[in-house]
Amino acid sequence: MERNYDQLISQMTLEEKAGMCSGLDFWRLKGVERLGIPSIMVTDGPHGLRKQKEGGDHLGIFNSVPATCFPSAAGVASSWDRELIEMMGKALGEECQAEDVAILLGPGANIKRSPLCGRNFEYLSEDPFLSSEMAAHHIRGVQSQGVGTSIKHFAANNQEHRRMTSDSIVDERTLREIYLASFEGAVKKSQPWTVMCSYNQVNGTFVSENEYLLTDILKEEWGHEGFVVSDWGAVNERADALSAGLELEMPSSAGAGEQKIIEAVRSGKLPEEKLDRAVERLLRIIFKAADNKQHGVAYDAEEHHQLARIVARESMVLLKNENDLLPLAKEGRIAVIGALAESPRYQGSGSSRINPTKLEDIREEIRIAAGNSANVVYAKGYELDKDAAVATLVDEAVQAAGTADVVVLFAGLPDRYESEGYDRSHLRLPDNQIALIEAVAKAQPNLVVVLSNGSPVDMPWIGNAKAVLEAYLGGQALGGAIADLLFGDANPCGKLAETFPARLEDTSSYLFYFGEEDRVEYKEGVFVGYRYYDKKKIEPLFPFGHGLSYTSFTYSALTFANKSIRDDETLDVQVTVKNTGNRAGKEIVQLYVRETGSRVIRPEKELKGFAKVELAPGEEKKVTFTLDQRSFAYYDVDLKDWRVDSGSFEIMIGKSSRQIELTDTVMVEATKVYRKNATRNTTIGDLMADPARRPIIEGILQQQNSMGDASDHGDDSEMMEAIMENMPLRALINFSGGAMTEEHLDHILSALNAEH
Ligand code: BGC
Repeated sequence: MERNYDQLISQMTLEEKAGMCSGLDFWRLKGVERLGIPSIMVTDGPHGLRKQKEGGDHLGIFNSVPATCFPSAAGVASSWDRELIEMMGKALGEECQAEDVAILLGPGANIKRSPLCGRNFEYLSEDPFLSSEMAAHHIRGVQSQGVGTSIKHFAANNQEHRRMTSDSIVDERTLREIYLASFEGAVKKSQPWTVMCSYNQVNGTFVSENEYLLTDILKEEWGHEGFVVSDWGAVNERADALSAGLELEMPSSAGAGEQKIIEAVRSGKLPEEKLDRAVERLLRIIFKAADNKQHGVAYDAEEHHQLARIVARESMVLLKNENDLLPLAKEGRIAVIGALAESPRYQGSGSSRINPTKLEDIREEIRIAAGNSANVVYAKGYELDKDAAVATLVDEAVQAAGTADVVVLFAGLPDRYESEGYDRSHLRLPDNQIALIEAVAKAQPNLVVVLSNGSPVDMPWIGNAKAVLEAYLGGQALGGAIADLLFGDANPCGKLAETFPARLEDTSSYLFYFGEEDRVEYKEGVFVGYRYYDKKKIEPLFPFGHGLSYTSFTYSALTFANKSIRDDETLDVQVTVKNTGNRAGKEIVQLYVRETGSRVIRPEKELKGFAKVELAPGEEKKVTFTLDQRSFAYYDVDLKDWRVDSGSFEIMIGKSSRQIELTDTVMVEATKVYRKNATRNTTIGDLMADPARRPIIEGILQQQNSMGDASDHGDDSEMMEAIMENMPLRALINFSGGAMTEEHLDHILSALNAEH
């Protein structure tokens, strides 16, 4: 419904307007009854609904209404499946409608800078393209139900340590290409109704009052139409925040925030017009929620549970499968070992913790899937709340393992090992679990390890396990999903959305994570995740994009619609994928781009396309990717713009970032000429590299040669050339034997800077 917002705002008092910019309580926005402005409710997110009843605890953590607990983001991202995450979003949106929730807080699009970040389970990827695509489709799904989202935590919030005060010092190119890009694609594609600003500072300014991020980039450059909400308690100075572009402070500050806004308007520090525009942004979303409110909605909890099971099995990643130990036969004696099979870890701790509608029992699901011809036995193996091994539990597990045909051992990180609020300090599993894996492997070579964790662990024990299934934090239906995959009722089809390092010391932020007091310098620059391992030629434990299947795929016929394009054109790239095994399966095809001979330091490859294809045995399909200017560009900090340079680019099609199957080259011609003003200190080499300026410089050099000493430099000619190339223009005065004067130099500079 079209409304006249100017008129509505003109009827509001200053107090009412300022009041709208802070929450009513922990979860609700203020309304204005006399003007028919409703109060709406927001709730966490991201992988389920955490709606607290009125008067919930003051930290807003405990007791929420039952809701479907889907796998957390680390898992869902490993599905690389845009449609699936959109379906999950739709289901979440439906639950919001049923519970009268207007905005669901999520998805989390922060980049996994380090595997140590305690909240990585809530984030999607180390790669901005994958992260922003998945976030965009999560948003699309939820919002298709007339419910808003809040992409979070914007921006450069990549650690929990000192999260409310730390200052992320990030250079502009890194910020643009890695940390902001993860949000940019999602904001532009899917227009989340709201964006949640993070707690931290970026380059010396709290994000909550960072005009550059909230207004210049988010609203003006990217065109975000909704409003910005603070993370809970992220506002430092309320009036400064409003002025910078933060419309809503959450939770309520019991009148303190609005009082500051009122005072700032009265003193003339904050123009009332600015407040009006903030209120307009709030009103547009509030009324959008009200207009889209569906009354009397009930969702089918069982249907959503089944969807959670599908999402879970598409998200899990088969990391290793020696001698095709998996899938398991539905016969013989199967020993299920490990306390995590009894008390599953299916979601992370903190504000995203859902009260699930039900929870599958892993052991029971394995029994059902194995059927009557198999004998499934269980041994606990270790205590989840302790790190020390308990001899009797180990003995019992070893005993069960020795008499079984195969062992499925459940290991992973207990809640106390990773959570919102703090970071990990190492990548290890608890000692008692490592000891158990080693002891069990001695008794039973057919060992499958199933991992439940929100972020990579190291695996010094990997040689002991023939198969490893990364189940991540699989949500309330993880038991059935794991059973489906173990016995081949479903074929594993997830691939890692993050690198699993061999050692913590191999990670790119290792030397700097998590900073000194509040100062956190992102010194590794754009070399995050596989960008770093590639450049440094470090072998990871499992690379970005890795994941096995029970069938096999071959790639062929890489073709480009054009072998040479202009950067304002798009390029269609096609490849044929064939299922060469004897089971139906899904393959995630990845497209990476590399500029050959680039003028700036760039990664060896960057993900610019991906597709998930389902193939019956023997079936083949053509997959098409469309590349555009951004697929080839880097961010030029001097130009303050994305830039493509003319040249050749390799297009690589891979099964993972380390398994490239096909490569070909395309020529890209830049349509924009990027020319910096020439100065006295511009080098001869840089000027010669510009086709429009080259003749001018050649002319000068010839003149100088004919006047000065033109003798043959013999073997020194290479050295002379190099010296010349790196020489600034002004130095010609010293080396021309008086032929070149300051006056000449001025003329040359005018000629060089004239329009070409
Ligand atoms: C978290 C947010 C969450 C909010 C509300 C904050 O502590 O960082 O992700 O949405 O609380 O629970």
